[in-house]
Amino acid sequence: MQRRSFIKKTSAAGIAMALVPGITLNQEMEYSIVELMGKTNIELYGEGINLRKKAHDAFLSMKRAAYSDGIDLKIVSSFRSFQRQEIIFERKFITYTEDDEMEPLAAIDKIIEYSTIPGTSRHHWGTDIDVIDGYPKTNGDVLVPEKFESGGPFENFKKWMDENSVIYDFHLVYTDNPKRRGFKYEPWHYSYAPISKPMLEAFRSKNIAQLLQLEEFYGAEHFTIGFLKNYIQNNILDINRNLL
Ligand SMILES: [Zn+2]
Repeated sequence: MQRRSFIKKTSAAGIAMALVPGITLNQEMEYSIVELMGKTNIELYGEGINLRKKAHDAFLSMKRAAYSDGIDLKIVSSFRSFQRQEIIFERKFITYTEDDEMEPLAAIDKIIEYSTIPGTSRHHWGTDIDVIDGYPKTNGDVLVPEKFESGGPFENFKKWMDENSVIYDFHLVYTDNPKRRGFKYEPWHYSYAPISKPMLEAFRSKNIAQLLQLEEFYGAEHFTIGFLKNYIQNNILDINRNLL
């Protein structure tokens, strides 16, 4: 596994700060574009957790607290590489365009209701999780909004997370705010703000649209600059304000 040169970079920044009074540490310096796009290995912690160290520790604290209240926080998905997201995207693109005979741009619009364009998933960062309650018996897909509503198997989980997740710095990303655009409501997707906020800041400082136009996965040839700008505005930036 390739290790991040985190210590080297931060200490270099520390020296710069010591030598030049008044200079502030620019956090985006810590995150490379390959890291932000899930194209490199990062150090992940915890079997079945797979998060960056601080996010992992915070998750364990939250899990312990939930456990004592009768909720078994169970991660369904956390870190996902660019390659993994590419497989998901291409599979859906092929299904929609070939089996369902949809136009490419319509197919892409349908994909991005719930799935991200490879390179833009918050799951690339090692800070975000899809999480449910492991206790209730359920049938079929678990990541379905109705299951988190009253009468659903994850009703208690949702209530507990509403009251407690922010204590551990985990915030819902895709809220049910009707004015929010981009990805649909995902009551299962939480993000560890102390790391994901500076990562988003670093990410938005890059020319994401231009980078995506250079990608060669199946379907990417249909991305126009207009489409990508909307996608970035709606799907990447129109999220819970606590994470901006
Ligand atoms: Zn997710």
